[in-house]
Amino acid sequence: MGRKFFVGGNFKMNGTVSGIKDIVHNISTAKTDPNTEVVVAPPALYLLLTREHLDPKFEVAAQNIFDKPSGAFTGEISASQLKDSGINWTLLGHSERRTVLREDDDFIASKTKSAIEQGVGVILCCGESLEEREKGTTVDVVTRQLDAVNKMVDKEAWKNIVIAYEPIWAIGTGKVATTEQAQEVHAAIRDWLSKSVSSEAAENTRIIYGGSVSDKNCRELAKEKDIDGFLVGGASLKPAFVDIINANQ
Ligand code: PEP
Repeated sequence: MGRKFFVGGNFKMNGTVSGIKDIVHNISTAKTDPNTEVVVAPPALYLLLTREHLDPKFEVAAQNIFDKPSGAFTGEISASQLKDSGINWTLLGHSERRTVLREDDDFIASKTKSAIEQGVGVILCCGESLEEREKGTTVDVVTRQLDAVNKMVDKEAWKNIVIAYEPIWAIGTGKVATTEQAQEVHAAIRDWLSKSVSSEAAENTRIIYGGSVSDKNCRELAKEKDIDGFLVGGASLKPAFVDIINANQ
């Protein structure tokens, strides 16, 4: 059985009640590839609205969680609260949280552990800065980010993790990685899965690409053997998101 193509939409801190209803309506009513798994991540405030209006065949993700189940953590939400609300996924380790909110590898790993324990799937983001790419340390950086998670979760956890390779220099910049650049890192991640987790995890884990994916570049990227889908930011707010969902058709 091949890996099911996976497309995530990260709305970031965008949207209004009516705007999100429109986007969700467009996705729900469009003709979409039944072989693609679709998960959209609105801001926390709109999670339930999205769940209510999105076709049940699609899933909803939070953009972040805290690593404790409940308690005195003002402003945070937990994996168990997501689950209680019918939200089955979360993004974790997005570069905007790593850089702007200063989240480190261990905190992201701890949040991943908490999500998995509560039965919430994780879209785990990793990726290098431009400086790290130019220094030739891309694979070291990505491996360090993934090792931190691997130390905290058991091997079974990887069944509920989708790895999103997102080079920071390509996010929101319009500068997409070339198909060769993306494939090279995806293959290195698969190799890491095989050596550090298991051959099953290497075979079955979806590794998706994120960074300025659009309706123009998605089909070429989707042809690469280790690219199992996309995490889409800006374009997930537009009608073109449907073309990206259908990139593998
Ligand atoms: C993202 O936010 O994960 C992302 C990839 O953004 P964009 O598609 O806008 O580059």
